[in-house]
Amino acid sequence: MRIMLFGEPGVGKGTLGSRLSEKYSIPRLSTGDLFRAEIAKSTPLGQKVKEYINSGHLVPDEIVLEVAKQMFSVDYNNGFILDGFPRTVPQGEAFSAILKEHDWKMDAIILIKVQIEEIIRRLSARRQCESCGASFNLVSSPPKVAWVCDKCSGKLIQRPDDEPQVVRERLSVYQEQTNAVVNYYRRKGLLKEIDVTGLSVNESFESLIKLIESS
Ligand code: AMP
Repeated sequence: MRIMLFGEPGVGKGTLGSRLSEKYSIPRLSTGDLFRAEIAKSTPLGQKVKEYINSGHLVPDEIVLEVAKQMFSVDYNNGFILDGFPRTVPQGEAFSAILKEHDWKMDAIILIKVQIEEIIRRLSARRQCESCGASFNLVSSPPKVAWVCDKCSGKLIQRPDDEPQVVRERLSVYQEQTNAVVNYYRRKGLLKEIDVTGLSVNESFESLIKLIESS
C-alpha cells in the first residue's frame, strides 16, 4: 500500500499517518520528522535546516531532494505512508521520477481538510515529545502527566514552528507552494479529499480508512 497525505499544517497528517502506518504495517516517511531529529542531534543537516523550519519557511528543494534520494534508496516492498513530501512542484516532479524508477504506483493520494479556525486551535494546543516525537493535544488527547510523554517519559515541548506568527507563515507557504502540487494531482483525477473538521481522531481515522479502501 502506497499512500500520500496532503493537508495544511495541523490537519492531523502526522497522527493519522502514524495510525495508518500501524494498521498496514508500513513505514511513515515524514521529511519534517527527519529534519527535527537532525536538529535535535545538531548534525550538519540539522544546523542547515533549523532556521528555515523555525521561521515557517520551506527547506530549499536541493536539500530536500538529497534527503528524498536517500529516503527512497530503501526498497519499501510493502509500501509506505508519505507525510510532508512532495511540497513544491520540483519535488513533485522528482517524486514522479522516483516512482518511475522503482516501477511503483500510488494507491491513494489524499488531501485532508480542516477549517482554518480549528487548525489554529489545534496547533496552539499541540505538544510534542522532544525524545520520541509523539504528538499530544492539550484539548483532545492530553498526556497523562503534564509535560511528560506517555510513551517514553520524555519532555513535551511546543514546536517552535507552532508559535502563532510562524503558523501564519506556514499556512501562507502552503497556499503559495504546496497547493500547486495538490492541484496537479487533482487535475489528473488522482486526488481524494476528506474534511475532518469537528471529528475526533478516531472518527477521522475511520473516515480515512473508508476512503482509502474505497479506492
Ligand atoms: P512538517 O512536520 O511536515 O509540518 O514539516 C515541518 C517543517 O519542515 C516544514 O514547515 C518545513 O520547514 C520543513 N519541511 C518538511 N518537509 C519539507 C519538504 N518536503 N520541503 C520543504 N520543507 C519541508
